[in-house]
Amino acid sequence: MTSVTTVDNPLVDTKLTRLRDVSTPTGEFRALLGDIGCLLTPAATANLPTRPITVTTPLTTTEGVVLDGGTPVLVSVLRAGNGLMEGVLRLLPDTDIGQIGLYRDHETLEAHQYMVRMPPIAGRHVIVVDPMLATGHSATAALDIVAAEQPASVVFMCLVAAPEGIAELQARHPNVDIVTAAIDSHLNEVGYIVPGLGDAGDRLYGT
Ligand code: URA
Repeated sequence: MTSVTTVDNPLVDTKLTRLRDVSTPTGEFRALLGDIGCLLTPAATANLPTRPITVTTPLTTTEGVVLDGGTPVLVSVLRAGNGLMEGVLRLLPDTDIGQIGLYRDHETLEAHQYMVRMPPIAGRHVIVVDPMLATGHSATAALDIVAAEQPASVVFMCLVAAPEGIAELQARHPNVDIVTAAIDSHLNEVGYIVPGLGDAGDRLYGT
């Protein structure tokens, strides 16, 4: 069963409050989204396996660890995933990056794919980033693409999750763990998260 981790941290909470504010300008929104991507990364990588190594310090040798299986692959769900991805890359700068382009049909709320570019991910650990887990249609469409390549593990990182989206993801991808900054109340009649922060892509790109 999917685990859901809500990162409870004063920096995350204050930055998310600024992101929610309708008067926060595009540049600040972009910087804050990246900061939260960075702050969620320890939770998103908490279960990565490590193996012991011996390291030589200037004084002696001691025991340390390296990631077993290498740096996880990052998969951004376009457009808004790129805002979170920028922050994750501060901690995982050498990661390989996949991109999945999806747009939402505003009538049906279904996700439509327009682009997929993936590095090899079979047997690798993967972090999928998309700020708004709303209906779960985009998330499950992206996770279907990732799961087909048989990764070793998948974490879905978002900024705000709706209960409806969490339920959809748990039903369709029970092996995927969710890391989020907040779980909001509900979706409105046009599929926006309430209280939410509006359209994350529009606010990120000023469109
Ligand atoms: N996508 C967004 O950007 N915002 C929402 O509230 C729901 C989906």
